[in-house]
Amino acid sequence: MKLSQLFLDNRQILSFEVFPPKPEVPLETLLESIPGFRELSPDYISVTYGAGGSTRGRTVEIASTLKNTFGIEAMAHLTCVGHSMEQIDGILENLKRENIENILALRGDPPIDQPDFDFSRGAFRYANELIAHIKKQGDFCIAAAAYLEGHVDSRRLAEDRKWLRQKVDAGVDFLVTQLFFDNRLYFEFLDRAAQEGINCPIVPGVMPIFSSRIKTMTARSGCSIPAQLVLMIDKYHDSPEDLRKAGIEYAGRQIRELLDGGAPGIHLYTMNRLKSTTEVLKAAGLR
Ligand SMILES: Cc1cc2nc3c(=O)[nH]c(=O)nc-3n(C[C@H](O)[C@H](O)[C@H](O)COP(=O)(O)OP(=O)(O)OC[C@H]3O[C@@H](n4cnc5c(N)ncnc54)[C@H](O)[C@@H]3O)c2cc1C
Repeated sequence: MKLSQLFLDNRQILSFEVFPPKPEVPLETLLESIPGFRELSPDYISVTYGAGGSTRGRTVEIASTLKNTFGIEAMAHLTCVGHSMEQIDGILENLKRENIENILALRGDPPIDQPDFDFSRGAFRYANELIAHIKKQGDFCIAAAAYLEGHVDSRRLAEDRKWLRQKVDAGVDFLVTQLFFDNRLYFEFLDRAAQEGINCPIVPGVMPIFSSRIKTMTARSGCSIPAQLVLMIDKYHDSPEDLRKAGIEYAGRQIRELLDGGAPGIHLYTMNRLKSTTEVLKAAGLR
């Protein structure tokens, strides 16, 4: 089923994001938790496309298992960075073969150890080009990424929104945001996106704080952490379990407020953690 159909029902959509385990780790470590995730009744689960390449081959396999073995609707992430046209078309063919109808189309990041990476080596320079290509190659529902605080490479927010509009015009059905911790950013972004003529659903992506590693993650992606959260992370620096619990409470409140404010759904970055995901949904009063 195409996920664009879900948004027509006018109800709030719950989705989870999982990532493929490293190649040396058996797939079962993730698959064993899928029945538990299914119990939480997500509308779909998305599977990331491994940055750096080592887990890329597993994305289609996991998405297919979610859909064809567990009966959960799936969305496969796909990045174009460094890929030739033939490689992209090969992946699209695999997705069609596995009956996966939903793609989160992304540019992707260059390898960490290659700061001077030449993006022109791949067939597509930006996500909008990949989106236009996917549109031509098959009947897929296409999602794309949105950055409430601007993409980390972007010089100006207005410029970033212009490129976002271009991406949507290329054929995006809905957008999923990068993680953020201050809901005002989301609601203000909705207003600015509407002014830019972006009218598709914009689903907030929420990542609970599971550990103090969040600081590195946000620094890399250009997301801000509100002072209140910095203090919280600092307070529980020597007590990871207390930090996890406080992070779950915070995420629960954040989700509740987003849904009460009319967000079209929630995309939860689960980090493959079933227990914490279950606790977050409970804290949000959702399951
Ligand atoms: C919900 C979500 C899921 C993600 N999943 C993955 C994943 O599975 N695997 C992974 O590797 N990464 C993932 N990422 C990270 C993403 O790949 C990076 O943030 C990447 O740097 C940008 O990808 P994009 O598709 O947003 O790029 P684009 O939309 O192409 O934008 C990239 C940069 O170029 C600028 N730009 C865009 N178009 C133009 C243009 N025409 N001319 C000039 N500048 C332009 C933008 O402002 C931005 O600064 C995800 C991000 C999000 C928010």
